[in-house]
Formats: sequence, structure tokens, C-alpha cells
Amino acid sequence: MEKLESLIKTYYDFPKKGIAFKDLLGIIQDSEIFRELILRMSLNHVIKNSEAIISIEARGFIFGSAISLQARKPMIVARKPGKLPGEVFQENYHLEYGSNSLSIEKGALEKFSSYAIVDDLLATGGTVDCVTRLINKSGKKIAGLLTVVELIELNGRSKFDFPVESVLSI
Ligand code: AMP
Repeated sequence: MEKLESLIKTYYDFPKKGIAFKDLLGIIQDSEIFRELILRMSLNHVIKNSEAIISIEARGFIFGSAISLQARKPMIVARKPGKLPGEVFQENYHLEYGSNSLSIEKGALEKFSSYAIVDDLLATGGTVDCVTRLINKSGKKIAGLLTVVELIELNGRSKFDFPVESVLSI
């Protein structure tokens, strides 16, 4: 996974001053590394212990849907405001560089008993905490969180009482 790290580019002061933005899109421009990464993430116990995956808009969709295909687990999505039709659960959150809200279709969340949350990167944990609150509203179990990258200094994992797994801690 040494090559994986080399494919992640850091942009300083983006999208705001003081943020070191990790651009993970280089990973999907290398199909062999992307494939290796997805095979590895699909075998993670967080995925194995879940009935379905919840992936977070937008970069979480890239990794979540590939894992869903490989691990043969259904996937539902947590989306930004105004994107989902029908009845939704909605919660607000703060992330490393702003605030927003996420929604999940009520009907989709009712279908499965336990969920693995998948995203590209864990920073402060605000985004995943929002998804956690959404899942808790439905009373369903959280098998854990799986991300490609974890920004270790921000200690986002301390917010959670479920397993937190990442391929790269930087
Ligand atoms: P947080 O809620 O602070 O854990 O932020 C995680 C979410 O924001 C993920 O969906 C990331 O895509 C994005 N994000 C936060 N900080 C960064 C960063 N330094 N580089 C790239 N993406 C980030």
C-alpha cells in the first residue's frame, strides 16, 4: 500500500486557509491500485459484520459502491440536502471545513439490521457522527466505520464507540 500513499496529493489551504486537503482521486486513476484497495477493504471485518453499507456523498460513493459490488453487500446512501425524494431522516453536522446536513431515505434504512459506514476520509468525525445519529434514529446497529484515509492528529475516532478502520493513517 506504499504506492497508495504516493497517489494521494496534498493541497494546502484548500478549500479554506489552514486545511491540508487530501485529494484521493489519483487512486481511481490507477486501476490496479484501486482494485487492490477495494479487494482489501471488502475483506475488512467491519464489512463482513454488516448486512449493508451506507456510503456518504460524494467521494464515499466511489469506494462504497465498489466495495458493495465486491463484497456482495447492498448499499444505501447518505446524501446532501435536497437530493433524496420521499421521506427522509435528516441531521446537521460540522466537518473540518464547514457545516452541512445529510439525509437517508427512511424506507432504505428500514430494510437492513446492521450497517458499515464507508467514506473516503475521516477527519474530525463530524460527518460520520451525523450518519451515526441518522442510523440511531432508526434503532439499527452500526457494525463500524471503514475509510481509505484517517487523519490521525484530528482523533475523529474518539467520537465513536464502534470499530473504526482505515487503510492509511496519516
Ligand atoms: P470530518 O467530518 O471532519 O471527519 O470530514 C470528513 C469528510 O470531509 C469526508 O467526507 C472527507 O471527504 C471530507 N474532508 C474533511 N477533511 C478533509 C481533508 N483534509 N482532505 C480531504 N477531504 C476532507
